[in-house]
Amino acid sequence: MKKFKAQSQKLLDLVVNSIYVNREIFLRELISNASDAIDKRRFMSLTDSRLAADFCIEIKADKTARTLTITDNGVGMTEKELENNLGVIAASGTETFKKEKAAKDGVELIGQFGVGFYSAFMVAKSVTVITKKVGAQNAYMWVSDGVEGFDILPATRADAGTDVILTLKDDVDDDSYSEFLEYFRISALVKKYSDYIRYPIRMEKENDDKSGEVETLNSMIPVWKKQKSDLGENELDNFYMHTFRDFRTPVHNIMTRVEGAVTYSALLFVPAEPPFDYYTKDYKRGLALYCNGVMIMETCEGLLPEYLGFVRGVVDTPDLALNISRETLQHDRRLKAIANGLEKKILAEFTKLLKNDREKYEKIFSQFGKAIKFGAYNNFGEDKDKLKDILLFYSDKNKKLITYKEYVEGLDIKVPLKEDKKRTKAPILYACGETVEKISMLPQLELAREKGEDVLYFVDAVDEFVARMLGNYDGHKFENVASGGGEVTAQKQEDKDLLKRIEDKLNGKATVTATAKLKSYPVCLAAKGDVSLEMERIMAQMGGGVKAQRVLQVNMNHPVIMGMNDLSEEAFADTVTVLYNEALIAEGYKTEPEFLAAINRLIVAAPQKAKKTTKKANE
Ligand code: ADP
Repeated sequence: MKKFKAQSQKLLDLVVNSIYVNREIFLRELISNASDAIDKRRFMSLTDSRLAADFCIEIKADKTARTLTITDNGVGMTEKELENNLGVIAASGTETFKKEKAAKDGVELIGQFGVGFYSAFMVAKSVTVITKKVGAQNAYMWVSDGVEGFDILPATRADAGTDVILTLKDDVDDDSYSEFLEYFRISALVKKYSDYIRYPIRMEKENDDKSGEVETLNSMIPVWKKQKSDLGENELDNFYMHTFRDFRTPVHNIMTRVEGAVTYSALLFVPAEPPFDYYTKDYKRGLALYCNGVMIMETCEGLLPEYLGFVRGVVDTPDLALNISRETLQHDRRLKAIANGLEKKILAEFTKLLKNDREKYEKIFSQFGKAIKFGAYNNFGEDKDKLKDILLFYSDKNKKLITYKEYVEGLDIKVPLKEDKKRTKAPILYACGETVEKISMLPQLELAREKGEDVLYFVDAVDEFVARMLGNYDGHKFENVASGGGEVTAQKQEDKDLLKRIEDKLNGKATVTATAKLKSYPVCLAAKGDVSLEMERIMAQMGGGVKAQRVLQVNMNHPVIMGMNDLSEEAFADTVTVLYNEALIAEGYKTEPEFLAAINRLIVAAPQKAKKTTKKANE
């Protein structure tokens, strides 16, 4: 006997021992395996007509032997494939399952998601698989009780295909497994979970005279071809979860039918979260492509622009040839026309959600907004105008996500035309940082807040690039509150001298100016010229050495600054160090090594200074 691989063993225990209400899903799993196997053979038969057959899935119940058999005339498996496929849980879908699995809700996950073949052990005390690969001479049998391991033995089978034979568990009190031998129960389960399967699922109808007729249990109409009113409850969600191996219900679905130059129907889904491999090279972006209900490609990249890579779904068109090759397909004009149509449809749908179901749109945007923003920036901004109105940014004033448009609408109310003397439009202010929380504490925001101006928070690296790519929104330029702005020329000679002294101490790290931008903070960091601090950071991450020209902006009215001229030479130098590092911290930078020593020296000096002052006061 061969043992199951270690990780399979754990999952098996979970499956076998769960007193699981939703164990009925085993049938869906086995039928979908059968359907996949037929898909594979049917695909091969397109180029080798000898492999064609009257494809179907048969279910047989034997009440005396307590067996339920699911038979398909698909590709079948070789001995090696039997061992590899059924001996270890390593299939793509189950991989996700393992990643997401927290021991305690594991059982729940099985029900929503399924663990494929292994779910058979939720209802069976033993499983036998008899299979013969297309074109092969020999058939093999795989037998297991799901606990220890499995055996593979030679077997006989007339034609290529697979039988999965379940010997059902014994009924214990109200825990009935016999129900899975009843025609009506099975036929209801097929209707519920597998109605759209494209091959007939047949079963002998029970009759008292035992001469049962064979019934086809499923309608075979693909979900995307059904009328909305004919769809069962959760049918679309179930279809999505099972087809795309996601245990979370999708956030949104889009059904569309187009007739004209090209004819197609599409069923698209926006997942609740990116799949676990979304940010890796392994993720296959694209939609499944069907020709009249027959799949011709599992993931066709050309159907979606890169920035909508998170959308899953199927496209069915009668306009493409079944045996079209991948290469020709990618350049097919009809395919491009479908892709354009889908892109428009998805964007229109997002715009509609933004207007009518903001909460849902924000949910989508929180997961995939970065991809959409990247789309606005990518390809030299080719798509920016299509996308600019569905981008959301956190607003300092509104404390929620808003669009550029909403920002601008807010502006028009707040800034009366007479202030707009030069007939230039007020800028869209923004601030960059890692998180909403960190940005909200930036000193540079103080002045804007005092003036009642709103500031958009750019939390993603790509945000500022998008703003630069757009240049302006409806004539309103984008302005980073951290780049210049608020600068004032010091009037008094004394102030000029102080700024000069601070700048000398900074030793080329930054230039120094006075600012009107700050209230309660003594200093902040800004950048002069084209490269902002944020961009410098992003460039550095990408290995580039572009440097921002740093400016330390100083609030001349702050007590710390006002007291600086009274300091000893050493204390002055330490204070400049502390102030500069304070500005670095506020911008999210690491501090300099000398920072801590400078603080410590100032703390030591502080009580002495305090004593001196008190003494003076007492005299
Ligand atoms: P998944 O379907 O997620 O790949 P399963 O555990 O359900 O995982 O099945 C494992 C593998 O066993 C399948 O990927 C397939 O290669 C093979 N398999 C299962 N059932 C059949 C079948 N009826 N005919 C041919 N191959 C099958």
